[in-house]
Amino acid sequence: MSKVVVFGSFVVDLMARSPHLPVPGETVKGSVFKMGPGGKGFNQCVAAHKAGADVVMITKLGKDSFADVALGTMDELGMTKESLFYSDDVETGIALILVDENTSQNEIIIVPGACNTITPEEVAKIENVIKESEYVLLQLEVNQDANELVADMANRYGCKVIVNTAPYAKISDEFLSKAYMVTPNEVEAEELTGVHVDSLESAHEAAEYFYKKGVQKVIITLGSRGVFVSSDGREEIVPAFKVEAVDTTGAGDAFNGGLLAALSEGKDIWEAVRFANGLAALSVQKMGTTPSMPKLEEVEKFLK
Ligand code: ADP
Repeated sequence: MSKVVVFGSFVVDLMARSPHLPVPGETVKGSVFKMGPGGKGFNQCVAAHKAGADVVMITKLGKDSFADVALGTMDELGMTKESLFYSDDVETGIALILVDENTSQNEIIIVPGACNTITPEEVAKIENVIKESEYVLLQLEVNQDANELVADMANRYGCKVIVNTAPYAKISDEFLSKAYMVTPNEVEAEELTGVHVDSLESAHEAAEYFYKKGVQKVIITLGSRGVFVSSDGREEIVPAFKVEAVDTTGAGDAFNGGLLAALSEGKDIWEAVRFANGLAALSVQKMGTTPSMPKLEEVEKFLK
């Protein structure tokens, strides 16, 4: 099994449920409050770690009590904390999530905070980790200049860059050219390529866009419909597993973490997608993001 890295965000999710969402100026008495670890990078790293990967999380926290939410979870799960950075003056990132308990509609504000302030000096310090790793998984939730430096460094050392293009943000052709693999969901794929992905043909067209930029493998996740995979001239939509979904928040994170873990095990892309598909199908059957990520044994049992 090879070493892998997730370079990305950590935020604390602060979720409140109330009978209705407040309008400007209104205060609403809520019924439930929950706090827990979040951020696409962190969720993906937890998914990969629980799936058995030898994975290092690289992110930046504040010097505040919210950082303890990350550290506590990492201790509990036995994750390595060797590559964390701390900001002296910016708080740990947070996501304020308001949920209407009747309609399940939500309103979210994300303040990425410390993980949006990763400096070139800090990126320089992870050189040894990148050097030793076969894959690095990036998302678009941290400051993009840091992502670009990590992609450069990874290219120099032959560490393959996987870019989960979430949440959507404009990215340069140069950045895309450094990616070995991209994993947008269908909405991000359309935003990036201009192609509405609703069939094998349109997915092929979107994949062509990425190939022209220099990407080598394209995966587009399609929610409950499954996942489009394009690799070495073979293209297929692999159907999702039919399960009773109770909470699809973080499905993409589960998929990306699972994919990373399977690739680090030396599985080929088709086997890796099957594993990630199974892992994500298990995660949508439970509430929450990091707590819903299944363990390796559960995924293996499900896929038997
Ligand atoms: P995102 O969360 O980024 O929008 P998707 O909704 O595309 O990502 O979901 C990612 C993957 O999770 C899918 O490709 C699929 O493997 C799995 N998945 C998502 N929703 C379901 C579902 N309802 N049932 C089974 N698998 C699902």
